[in-house]
Amino acid sequence: MNLKRDFPIFHHHPKLVYLDSTASSLKPQVVIDAEQDYYERYGVNVHRGLYDLSMKATEMYEGAREKVRQFINAKSTKEIIFVRGATEGINLVALTFGQQLRSGDVIVLTEMEHHANILPWQALAKWIGLEVRWIPVTDAGELDLTNVDALLQGAKILAVTQMSNVFGTVNDVALLAEKAHAAGAKFLVDGAQSIPHMPVDVQNIDCDFLVFSGHKMLGPTGIGVVYVKEDILATLEPYQRGGDMILEVTKNGATWNQLPWKFEAGTPNIAGAIGLGAAVDYLSAIGMESVWQHEQELARYGFEQLSKISGLKIIGGAAARGGRAAIFSFTLEGIHPHDIAAMLNEQQIAVRAGHHCAMPLHTKLGLVATTRASGCTPWASLRRAASPAV
Ligand code: PMP
Repeated sequence: MNLKRDFPIFHHHPKLVYLDSTASSLKPQVVIDAEQDYYERYGVNVHRGLYDLSMKATEMYEGAREKVRQFINAKSTKEIIFVRGATEGINLVALTFGQQLRSGDVIVLTEMEHHANILPWQALAKWIGLEVRWIPVTDAGELDLTNVDALLQGAKILAVTQMSNVFGTVNDVALLAEKAHAAGAKFLVDGAQSIPHMPVDVQNIDCDFLVFSGHKMLGPTGIGVVYVKEDILATLEPYQRGGDMILEVTKNGATWNQLPWKFEAGTPNIAGAIGLGAAVDYLSAIGMESVWQHEQELARYGFEQLSKISGLKIIGGAAARGGRAAIFSFTLEGIHPHDIAAMLNEQQIAVRAGHHCAMPLHTKLGLVATTRASGCTPWASLRRAASPAV
């Protein structure tokens, strides 16, 4: 089955070789149609109007929330908050859960984090006076867990990416959740890269927070998700304040709306959420197990082929524990990473060059930039496990 046909960008750019899914995936027609359908047929606000169109918009928006709930196996839609993306999601957690932290408290990150999972914590650390500890990475592109228990001692939160956007490494987040909880810390998973490419089940991981972005999982830009366990969410104060997130407002204060709306101030990205729901349907019909299997095949193939190029060095190891995604950051002797990207662009091959928003990691590795090829979109060889109707 040729899934490539579902992606209209190739009608416009038939020669395009898109190897930058890690930055943003392309969109299938069904996602584009779902957004357009909202704007064309019932494009009004949610939760407010007592008229048919608004009720339809609300039904579709809340329906998307239920699809996301099922996709990650959350217990309740109360635990699913729509935000702009993973970045806003981590800021939300840092600025809400962060209010419960006190000077001297410890937070633990890893050296392979994206800036989105560093900067909100650094800011919080400066404001409150927190200690930030780092789980180191090895040259093979894995987390070095030798001293993880000591690092976690006294920690309030451990925040880790499930899949490195530089190495393609998959971290054992269930193990890290166990270790964080044993130390009395909460556990946040940055699922920006993992959610599009592998099954992610919040019950199996037992994470307290999970964030991800729609645009990396075939969905629209400007929409993302924060999952928070309901009992934790109930202890958090809102992140933003305004319309829709209140029950009552007086001149002196307000009472908050029920979960999850308490955390969704103002008019949300309705079309984006509906588009994300369509992306979830699309991926679910293929089956995330099949997507992950294909991803690992691509990773093996990519590693084999790239290893044949003399002078090319893949950053991080090939056989990371727990599998590896088809994300390859590399250097090529004698050619600047940006020049490689520019030369490939002349052949309509899209790759990314730079530090991939992971400067501390590049600094540790003694690199200023790498070229990154990531071919993660499930194409022709992918077997559709489920509905032939997609
Ligand atoms: N975390 C990781 C691991 C990422 O790869 C990215 C995007 N490159 C983000 C967070 C941030 O995602 P967004 O820009 O969609 O908010």
